[in-house]
Amino acid sequence: MPDQKKLAQAAQVFKQARYPVALTGAGVSTPSGIPDFRSPGKGLWKKADPFSVASIWGFIEQPQSFYDWLKPLAGLMKTARPNPAHHALAQLEALGKLNAIITQNIDGLHQSAGSQRVLEVHGHLRQATCIRCYHMVDAQPLFDKFIRDGAVPHCEICGGVMKPNAVLFGEMMPVGIMYEADQESKKCDVMLIAGSSLEVAPAADLPLVAKKNGAQLIIVNKSSTPLDGVAAVIIRDDVAVALPKLVELVQK
Ligand code: ZN
Repeated sequence: MPDQKKLAQAAQVFKQARYPVALTGAGVSTPSGIPDFRSPGKGLWKKADPFSVASIWGFIEQPQSFYDWLKPLAGLMKTARPNPAHHALAQLEALGKLNAIITQNIDGLHQSAGSQRVLEVHGHLRQATCIRCYHMVDAQPLFDKFIRDGAVPHCEICGGVMKPNAVLFGEMMPVGIMYEADQESKKCDVMLIAGSSLEVAPAADLPLVAKKNGAQLIIVNKSSTPLDGVAAVIIRDDVAVALPKLVELVQK
């Protein structure tokens, strides 16, 4: 059971918030069956060294290894559904109590749950781009074909390799999205951090930007984070349990 006192505290902070934003990580999608894709020692990392497989250099040298590694995730893109944590955040936005979600997730589940303003700092898997001519297409048909025949998807125009629009290691974050995420972090007076261990940049940096500009941090995560010491409220619980309860209390 989530800590009622902490939840009540968090709800109070939210009720008084003028411009709350959320920052979400892999922990928000694990209840939907999406494996943790970036945290070392977890999820997809157990099977391969992501620094080589899921880096832009690895991708260019061995696209087959990348696609083999991505296969479980590519398959899940079609079947995974938003969980109560995603729905709770969408509800907060609908209530006028959330101005944006900054997410490290590439699965698009916030949008599936109905969230409108989602800043995907690590890109997404909805589309893929040719690394030679930058031709862009919907990714799902490519994934479907890859799951059927196991062959690396190539560009229909020039024959180059197609890369999903997710940010790989060694690649730049999307500049426009990062700018917006930074602006939101400066503007917010409350940052709700959910399902992120805050170890990987930029998730590790944005809460500090928010804090420096006077925001209160609320952290909902199963394990401790490096920013626990500066958070106003820490809820050490499953996001799919705690966030719906928080939304309930915010409406009271
Ligand atoms: Zn091409």
